[in-house]
Amino acid sequence: MTEPVAAEVGRDFIRDIIQADLDQGKYKEIVTRFPPEPNGYLHIGHAKSIALNFGIAQEFPGRCHLRFDDTNPVKEEQEYIDSIQADVRWLGFDWGKNLFFASDYFERLYEWAEKLIQDGLAYVDDQTQEEIRTSRGTLTEPGKNSPFRDRSVEENLDLFRRMKAGEFPNGARVLRAKIDMAAGNINLRDPVLYRILHAHHPRTGNAWCIYPSYDYAHGQSDAIEGITHSICTLEFEDHRPLYDWFIEKLPVPSDPHQYEFARLNLTYTVLSKRVLTQLVRDGHVAGWDDPRMPTMAGMRRRGVPPAALREFVKRIGVAKANSVVDVGMLEFCIREELNRTSQRRMAVLRPLKVVIENYPEGQTEELEAINHPDDPSAGTRKITFGRELYIEQDDFMENPPKKFFRLSPGNEVRLRYAYFVKCTGVIKNDAGEVVELRCTYDPATKGGNAPDGRKVKATMHWLPAANSVPAEIRIYNQLFANPSPDASNFAADLNPNSLEILSDARIEASVAESNSTEPMQFERQGYFVRDKDSTPGKPVFSRTIGLRDTFAKEVAKG
Ligand code: ATP
Ligand code: MG
Repeated sequence: MTEPVAAEVGRDFIRDIIQADLDQGKYKEIVTRFPPEPNGYLHIGHAKSIALNFGIAQEFPGRCHLRFDDTNPVKEEQEYIDSIQADVRWLGFDWGKNLFFASDYFERLYEWAEKLIQDGLAYVDDQTQEEIRTSRGTLTEPGKNSPFRDRSVEENLDLFRRMKAGEFPNGARVLRAKIDMAAGNINLRDPVLYRILHAHHPRTGNAWCIYPSYDYAHGQSDAIEGITHSICTLEFEDHRPLYDWFIEKLPVPSDPHQYEFARLNLTYTVLSKRVLTQLVRDGHVAGWDDPRMPTMAGMRRRGVPPAALREFVKRIGVAKANSVVDVGMLEFCIREELNRTSQRRMAVLRPLKVVIENYPEGQTEELEAINHPDDPSAGTRKITFGRELYIEQDDFMENPPKKFFRLSPGNEVRLRYAYFVKCTGVIKNDAGEVVELRCTYDPATKGGNAPDGRKVKATMHWLPAANSVPAEIRIYNQLFANPSPDASNFAADLNPNSLEILSDARIEASVAESNSTEPMQFERQGYFVRDKDSTPGKPVFSRTIGLRDTFAKEVAKG
């Protein structure tokens, strides 16, 4: 098991900066934002950013905005806008009245673009996308000025207005900032501010056929909203000089500052919306909420409690250097939370029938089972014992090795909450497989203890044959078999055994009846949650996580 590193919880370099700014009286209020692009579902990397931005707004006087960066209508959809809001709420955060969209600022961004033109700081470029790309230069070579760079202000204004009016087809022209094609920072080599895109936008409909670039819209949106600390991941560090350039050149109402932190990377996991979108589109998973997906929707469906995610992001902390977090740390947090909060039940994943030969036919009795070993207030429930039971196939061996203490011919074990039983016979099918066991029970051991003080070395879970219900149980393993999946060729790294379906499992009748969507522990098996694929005839349960970390060991064995 991966031991969680002792992270200093609650304090990081960004919070230190904010505290210093407050101490110096720079701000009365701290305003942060979480700015997703609605082009996919949120993943656990976003959870880190959400917890950071909304967490800061809770800890310091201030607020956190939810702002959709909806500048690319081709990739954005209302479904994503809705799912993102549901996920932020599920994680436990609330933006109150502060829900915004970059598209709310399209008018103002356009006016500011005209101002840049008027000030000689932007021009319309007729080069193709390809020409623009190749003339941008490289890290070691400066770019080349566009032949259209020195157009007059009048010509630029006229062309830009006609772009807006819809006179030109997609890709015919762009508006570029006029900064410096030889700048060491490639982001400053006349970046594109507007492109022509005749596309329907989820919010502005057909009002626009030119759309601002993310880089042009982002900082100005922050300024319009009065964001004080604009927190983003490290890949935007090199964009900061460009954002600052816009803020300096434009009459924006406030002066946001950007701070960058290391994005979350996890072993066995890809956190890229591009790849996640492809997993869904190519049918490698059953959807954005497939329980194997690192999306919040997937984790919610899998039974991961939001408190476990909050604890996880707290433990990993916020740093300035990129690193990869062991997925075992996430699993540790999930187990900790579920161990504390989930009720215990019994399920038999691969049933083996047992007949208790000395238990009277037709008789049953109710035994008491506890719902949570550390929480008496969780109460108890009744389990019906009878002549026919199920145990786990794995809990029986006909010819056991030395250290196998569970059921085998002649060996005595405890059935949890019930009796000591001893195996007296084995029934096999034509193929020689064990299909049924004959056992005897000791009536004096009711509740699981022998009055003569004799001991057994194993306690096993079981279910009554008559008072249990067939169920499908889905066991999930890592979606990727490679600890650092290759995002550019991810299909090759997929784990072919990421989903195992046990269609003949059995669960306690009370579990089947309750319809509860709370995760529960099936004793000795792990944590499970009812899945939405359940039907009245057949409940479906997903394993959130096993009781122990067996994955690392399996990988080591190869
Ligand atoms: P992806 O890289 O998965 O495609 P993205 O950065 O394109 O994500 P956005 O919708 O732009 O997705 O992200 C919204 C916010 O979440 C941004 O501020 C971004 O920096 C942050 N974010 C995205 N991925 C991570 C991550 N792995 N760890 C921490 N923050 C992240
Ligand atoms: Mg992004």
